[in-house]
Amino acid sequence: MKLKDYIEEIPDFPVKGILFKDISTLLINYQAMNYVKASFLDIIKLYDVDYIAGIDARGFLFSTLLADALGIGSFMIRKEGKLPGEVITKEYSLEYGISKMSIKKNINLKNKNIILVDDLLATGGTLKCAEELINIKDGNVLLSLTVIELTKLNGYKKLNSKVYSLVKYNE
Ligand code: AMP
Repeated sequence: MKLKDYIEEIPDFPVKGILFKDISTLLINYQAMNYVKASFLDIIKLYDVDYIAGIDARGFLFSTLLADALGIGSFMIRKEGKLPGEVITKEYSLEYGISKMSIKKNINLKNKNIILVDDLLATGGTLKCAEELINIKDGNVLLSLTVIELTKLNGYKKLNSKVYSLVKYNE
């Protein structure tokens, strides 16, 4: 399966100079999505995992799908202001700006093994922030999974955990 055929590149979105990788064409194709799911599951099955963590917002498209296939739960790491109740929040930088993400304070992640999922790894700021939030909650990040990786940005270097990506762009 050539996954790049299912990823549309949109120039200057959301800001000038960013070549946005749009996964809408992937989502609408059952075979392509199923291939992504099966590929992720092939990697995950090597680990003893308690929860899948999805990153706001496109990470959610994959996190619940994987959690369901594994028969385990998932939780959300969300942009600031999206999670109700008490949260822990951290600032981070991403390919096109600065943002903040939060995790619910009342979820128990102590000594739990967690796999992070997002659509794309760029500079690594987002996944790093997610790793830190999980570490604050005493959880253990086993690895991160992304559909796409922009390899020139070397995002993996920022992370403490390993990253597996299914499609790499070296531009
Ligand atoms: P980063 O923190 O720099 O690794 O950025 C990753 C996050 O920003 C992911 O949640 C992506 O959804 C989004 N993102 C960054 N760059 C792009 C891009 N070129 N195309 C699509 N999404 C992107």
